[in-house]
Amino acid sequence: MAMRHVVLKHVLSAQPRADDFQILEATPPACPDGGVRARVLYVSLDPYVGSRLRGRHMGEAPPAPMREPIPGACVAQVVETRTPDFAIGDVVHTMEGAWADEIAIAAGHARKLDPAMAPLQAHLSALGMPGLTAWAGVTQRARVGADDIVLVDAAAGAVGGAVGQIARIKGARAIGVAGGAEKVRLVVNEYGFDACVDYKAPDWEKALDAALPAAPTLCFENVSVAMLTTMLSRAAPYARVVLCGLVDQYHADAPPPQIPAGLIIGKRAQVLGLVVYDFYPRWSDFLAEAAPWVREGRLRIAEDVAHGLNGAPALFEKLMQGRNIGKCIVAVAEPS
Ligand code: NDP
Repeated sequence: MAMRHVVLKHVLSAQPRADDFQILEATPPACPDGGVRARVLYVSLDPYVGSRLRGRHMGEAPPAPMREPIPGACVAQVVETRTPDFAIGDVVHTMEGAWADEIAIAAGHARKLDPAMAPLQAHLSALGMPGLTAWAGVTQRARVGADDIVLVDAAAGAVGGAVGQIARIKGARAIGVAGGAEKVRLVVNEYGFDACVDYKAPDWEKALDAALPAAPTLCFENVSVAMLTTMLSRAAPYARVVLCGLVDQYHADAPPPQIPAGLIIGKRAQVLGLVVYDFYPRWSDFLAEAAPWVREGRLRIAEDVAHGLNGAPALFEKLMQGRNIGKCIVAVAEPS
């Protein structure tokens, strides 16, 4: 029986838009030796996929237009297995999935999920790669504690939202920066940050100064060198910076702006690069700590959901333009 997958219509030369994609009928993939074939339940849409589609992410090749499906993390249910590790009906998470009705997952690339742990789509947000990124940055790289004041941008998103909430769970204070009043409300009212400032409002830097209880000891950067410079100029001496993402730059054609080296020296700052891949082996440690937070409602991430594979291109365009509110997820099918 045929299934559908989403492909690029052509090689991209600019930031992806919804009409760069097409949905095609395809033959279901074969079940790999030692792996599984699985029916996709949820697909995660992430900023790095935009860079990957243009060959700009960690040296990974973009998918071939009109042939290979768009890559993405998935929660999926096993329909065929060629490994004793998984049975038909098991629900799994994979970072090697695709925008498709069905995927083949090679040996070593699926993690079995406990459906009782949390709602399944949480494994793509708070308990998924974005949550792991936040946990790794806050608890492993920066080792945040009760004396910290954490300033984070893209604070309404999955990574930024989890950064502030995990920092607060560790006893720190969390101040967010986000674009627009609706995002600011989400960050304060739902995520429980101490404050959040709208950088699209006039005089926003004055509002930032007013919102900071004292100089930040950690700047968690998701957006741009310009924002890093604004945040670091407020930081305490010996502050740490977690350099997690520069989303504003992923589709820029101009050379990247210079990192504020003088400011880093002046602040005696410690800059910590973060790549979540390094922490995939720690996923079970992360879940042991974070799943109770999710169950207790102490770590929650809003979801921006498209229903059905057809909705993936438009939701992805929204994410690429920063108009998403919370974690972008495509709900493809119900578990059986
Ligand atoms: P988000 O849901 O936070 O989406 C990105 C947000 O960035 C937007 O909603 C928008 O929020 C802000 N933004 C500012 N400028 C732009 C722009 N020019 N284009 C698009 N968005 C813009 O995404 P995630 O939570 O998934 O990821 C946050 C960051 O973390 C990204 O930079 C991502 O690449 C990075 N990341 C890094 C990882 C690593 O291993 N280092 C792993 C995972 C994610 P606003 O309106 O509030 O500005």
